[in-house]
Amino acid sequence: MAKLTYRYSAMNAGKSTMAMQVAYNYEELDGIVLVWKPLIDTKGDNKLVSRIGIERKVDNLLSMEDSPLKIVRAERKKVPKIDAIIVDEAQFLTEDQVNELYYISKKFDIAVLCYGLRCDFQMKPFPGSARLLAIADDIEEIKTLCKCKKKATQNLRFINGKPTFEGNQVAIDGEQSITYESVCGKCYIEYYLEYMNERKNIMTRERKK
Ligand SMILES: [Zn+2]
Repeated sequence: MAKLTYRYSAMNAGKSTMAMQVAYNYEELDGIVLVWKPLIDTKGDNKLVSRIGIERKVDNLLSMEDSPLKIVRAERKKVPKIDAIIVDEAQFLTEDQVNELYYISKKFDIAVLCYGLRCDFQMKPFPGSARLLAIADDIEEIKTLCKCKKKATQNLRFINGKPTFEGNQVAIDGEQSITYESVCGKCYIEYYLEYMNERKNIMTRERKK
């Protein structure tokens, strides 16, 4: 029986690189792999891009309305056997899409490997990651380090180089002066307290005017 696997991490842990390596390994053994990415991730257009410079065109960009099941049924008419489906940025999948991926792994015996984040910059789960963490057969953590050398577990969002704890859940790095840094829980809380303190000071100054 094939599995639905979720490999999660904080940002910049090399998830896309790993996803491409796994696709390559399958193909080296003449396996047939579909590589997908949610459309909402605008980074790299229709490619998976890794920070170490490798890239690969995706087979499908999934909009929120796309049905993985329909895509697989259509593909199965063209190729004898699909061995694996690899999804990068899987946190952006909808709950229904994750449900269908689970079904696909069991019904068609196709290994489904999803790579993504556990939670957003406010420590809230994404729809896709919440569902994957709930139903995946295997859940594996890809470890990366905070600048203090502890394990990074959270994603800190910066706007123009300043940490922020407010805003929309989805803001792709590189857009609107947004960058991210993976940090450990302790550093996250320190940045948060600093941010709240600064806001308090601004409000006090405003009141005194
Ligand atoms: Zn740290």
